[in-house]
Amino acid sequence: MSEIEKVKCLIIGSGPAGYTAAIYAARAEMKPVMYQGMQPGGQLTTTNEVENFPGYPDGVTGPEMMLQLEAQAKRFDTDVRFGFITKVDFSGGVHKCWADDGTEIHADTVIISTGASAKYLGLESEQFYLKNGGGVSACAVCDGFFYRGQETVIVGAGDSACEEAHYLSKLCTKVTMLVRRDEFRASKIMAERVQNTDNIEILFNTNTVEVLGDGQGVSGVLVKNNVSGEESTIPCTGFFVAIGHKPNTDIFKDYIDLDETGYIEYAEPGTSKTNVPGVFVAGDSADKTYRQAITAAGTGCMAALDAERYLSSIGH
Ligand code: NDP
Repeated sequence: MSEIEKVKCLIIGSGPAGYTAAIYAARAEMKPVMYQGMQPGGQLTTTNEVENFPGYPDGVTGPEMMLQLEAQAKRFDTDVRFGFITKVDFSGGVHKCWADDGTEIHADTVIISTGASAKYLGLESEQFYLKNGGGVSACAVCDGFFYRGQETVIVGAGDSACEEAHYLSKLCTKVTMLVRRDEFRASKIMAERVQNTDNIEILFNTNTVEVLGDGQGVSGVLVKNNVSGEESTIPCTGFFVAIGHKPNTDIFKDYIDLDETGYIEYAEPGTSKTNVPGVFVAGDSADKTYRQAITAAGTGCMAALDAERYLSSIGH
């Protein structure tokens, strides 16, 4: 049987929430151990330029910012590990977690910062331009600025899609919204807002067939009306996907209270506490509203401070 490793603070996930928690926990001498997860650096590693994180007047690329956060966490001796947690057992006083290499960890405190993943359509052309940084994005607030004065297309019909379409309409000359059914899912007020915006065109009963481009960047989208069967091409340089997010919380569901869409619920508003004493949450796995790097970092700080107070309360 492999040896059990005891740690004061285990951080699961390595986005801005996890690294900020690590910086604070390490400076408080909690000797944090971080498992980076399946996508070290988190969602920001799939974005290009980050221009809205305070402190970077000239902007920074997502991957570069995450390397800097990692370096800052390591500077204070965070034990950053490449690997992921596959299973947890939060039923007893000790929080048990298992890593993919078989290590069993008993943690006094756990900070969950596993984030969320944007859902994509899954089209080959969409994934190509997403990975090659050429015009596909799942975050209008992050990337809309790069398309100012240009035409964009956004797919989705929920509150996020409406909010993002409206955001884009202020930057772009034209925004075309692709709605797969003949109605919105979004709340009435959000749907009315996009319907009343002059430079937003809404195409109902419309599916995306292919994202078009020259291999370097997006130049349009081929769409199909799912009632008439008619296909047409919409010119655009940016293709935004706003069809929802999936919080990465599956491994916690037997122990941690989640809402109906899988987001972790705070046990006490204004804190990072979950329903399990000693287990805290930071970042997008509990945030379906803001989803920004800076808000994730803020809650990472809160989680580390709450964990430190919890350790003091149990006499560590
Ligand atoms: P939702 O799950 O509410 O909506 C997803 C939308 O994407 C739906 O319209 C869905 O279509 C569409 N969709 C899903 N898959 C596809 C696909 N493959 N092709 C085309 N369209 C697709 O997600 P949101 O992110 O919009 O919202 C999540 C939660 O956050 C909601 O509770 C929302 O109210 C809340 N929210 C609130 C905001 C606010 O109040 N300011 C802002 C943003 C979010 P269909 O309708 O046909 O299923």
